Amino acid sequence: MIVNDIDEPENGIKLSLFADDSAAWKSGSNLAALTRDIQRYINRLTTFFERWGFKLSAAKTVAIVFTKNKHVRSDDVKLTTSGCPIKVEKTVKFLGVIFDKTLTWAPYLDHVVTRCNKRLNLLKVMAGSRWGASKDVLLVVYKALIRSLIDYGCIAYDTASQTLNSKLESIQSKALRICCGAMVGTPTAALQVECGQPPLALGRQRMMADYALKVKSIQDHPSAPILEDCWQFHYANYPAGPEPFGAKVNNILKETMIDHVPSAPPIQAPWVKSSPAVSSKYLQPLKTRIREYITDQWQERWDYSDTGQFYRDLHPVVGYKIKRLLRPRHKDDQITRLRLGHVRLGEKLHTIGQRSDPLCAVCHELEDVEHFLIKCPAQQQLQH
Ligand SMILES: [Zn+2]
Repeated sequence: MIVNDIDEPENGIKLSLFADDSAAWKSGSNLAALTRDIQRYINRLTTFFERWGFKLSAAKTVAIVFTKNKHVRSDDVKLTTSGCPIKVEKTVKFLGVIFDKTLTWAPYLDHVVTRCNKRLNLLKVMAGSRWGASKDVLLVVYKALIRSLIDYGCIAYDTASQTLNSKLESIQSKALRICCGAMVGTPTAALQVECGQPPLALGRQRMMADYALKVKSIQDHPSAPILEDCWQFHYANYPAGPEPFGAKVNNILKETMIDHVPSAPPIQAPWVKSSPAVSSKYLQPLKTRIREYITDQWQERWDYSDTGQFYRDLHPVVGYKIKRLLRPRHKDDQITRLRLGHVRLGEKLHTIGQRSDPLCAVCHELEDVEHFLIKCPAQQQLQH
């Protein structure tokens, strides 16, 4: 609780407090001046902690310089706490997210991918195609174990490169493939529509916009300055994708024609019964509008997707529900594979090199889904 009375920073230094995971930072172009200001604040904090009988641990405190300037070396920054030097690192873990000094997010996303892969194995164990949990249960497990990892910190790492983000998309598509029991090579876009899971990049946009609404609705929110319009949003050169948070989000709000965000109702003491009208739902209509906008984007991507034509003929419209679910699992599995157009029939087995010819063993015609379901005399019981 003492942390709440901590000495307020000055000189443009910002402070973030979360129990023992706290940070102080300042941005600017003169490294020597920045170091001096931060050192001054550390000295003040040390005195403050000493007064209350605490000690700032030099071993657990690290410093990092975020810069793209290659000439900045860690020796240039000399900070101490009670006489002990503070290490200057290239990456630092803060609130579970790894920040690297050029903010490429590569170390963090590699860490996320490794953890997700372990959990994918767990999903595989639960999903035998002849037995095992059904699609809906597996999707719940995916959302709880894997999606939650991917989503944590996603607003921050959204600026990561296309290559890094595609590693995460591939985790999602592997997970959805396991959930559906679909074959290797099934188009990701079709799996996403089948499972009602939008592409991760779109999901991220939605979360960013929702967060922006929250920031705008709360007076003096500490993150409010990042949303303020500034010249960099308009005149700086950004490649498509890693634009700053403010530019991206303001664009979504413009597209959805949200120009006014209602302010949050005052926080009531927990023992006061709140009326249902003043609940946390005050942003709901705006959130719905954002969701619709994201769904439209998803629909557009699906309409023009290079892959999944076969499945698109069956399901032209995207949505957040599972398209079709049968029980038991092995039946659902087979039907889903047929609907996705990727089945263990001659044509596919031939393309993945498991069979020497793509022809039906009975009538020697190309054995694809259409032939199997409608034309082949060997499957007559299916046709009636
Ligand atoms: Zn046949």
